[in-house]
Amino acid sequence: MATMLDRAALRRRLEAAKTALVVGHIKPDGDCIGSVLALTEALRLRGVDADALIADDVAAKFYYLDGAAEIVATIPDKAYDTVLFMDLSTAERAGELPWPAVPIVNIDHHISNPGYADELYLDATAAAVGEILTELFLEWDWEITPTMAQALYTAIATDCGFFKYANTTEKTMRVAAALLARGADQAEVAQRTEELPPAALRVLPQIMATLTMEADGALSAITMDEAAMAAGGDYVDTYLELARNIEGVEVTLQFKYAEPEKTYVSFRSKTTVDVSALAAEFGGGGHIRAAGCTVWKSLADTISTVMPVAVAWTHHGRRH
Ligand code: AMP
Ligand code: MN
Ligand code: MN
Repeated sequence: MATMLDRAALRRRLEAAKTALVVGHIKPDGDCIGSVLALTEALRLRGVDADALIADDVAAKFYYLDGAAEIVATIPDKAYDTVLFMDLSTAERAGELPWPAVPIVNIDHHISNPGYADELYLDATAAAVGEILTELFLEWDWEITPTMAQALYTAIATDCGFFKYANTTEKTMRVAAALLARGADQAEVAQRTEELPPAALRVLPQIMATLTMEADGALSAITMDEAAMAAGGDYVDTYLELARNIEGVEVTLQFKYAEPEKTYVSFRSKTTVDVSALAAEFGGGGHIRAAGCTVWKSLADTISTVMPVAVAWTHHGRRH
């Protein structure tokens, strides 16, 4: 089990670093990319030789963030004394890389975090890791530059659906306001993260043709096959959002082709079902209202495995 860090212990840990590798998760989202970029810049400002790493492609739509194009995918040849795993609910989500043999410090907000790292700063009440970092930087009086503010605002806004999801709190909005005061451009973040190429919209009819309603209309599900993923893989959340917004829906599933025998499933809920626990039934996890898992089966077999369980949970309410 990880040693739990409080704020003071995390600060001492960061201040002791000389050479740090700041790591985000595969299938990187706005929270992971923004948090990695902001902490990397914060450490550099404090004289740390810090590098940002994500072992996966960073979608081009995030290139408006300074430094996004320079995030490396393989470990630079350096002797790191500190490795920071950001927004990483499990070690596997870091990707398969030869991690330096130094203690791993994990900064996270997933309720399902099993405590896999050597040291863990966990705040499951935070809407995003970007919210945690902003709160800490403000408390510690660490400078937040305009580029950091833009990265942190991106992290927060994308993880809470631009302040619409249930994880949005008074604190989320307070720290987001502090970022606007420090140079974040909220209109640019909304535009850059929501705009999409025509091809991603032209595939919408095929995706929405897969829409199924179960559990007396309380469960919606959409499926993205290989062609749909090729056209709209960087915009999966846009389609998920549509299926989630159907009236009467409590739980939404999105089945996404990854490989012939590998399927990724996203889970969302609105008020009752704990989808973190539901995703854990299939080896995944996440948050109470947003979770995911990878199933090593074909798209069709994954649907027939996951759907009955999700329908039962929606009907009988594994509540939270
Ligand atoms: P997604 O549907 O990919 O947006 O993921 C929703 C949430 O669940 C995110 O916060 C992820 O970090 C988390 N999550 C996704 N997949 C997994 C997994 N296999 N294990 C644990 N957490 C996951
Ligand atoms: Mn994330
Ligand atoms: Mn997050």
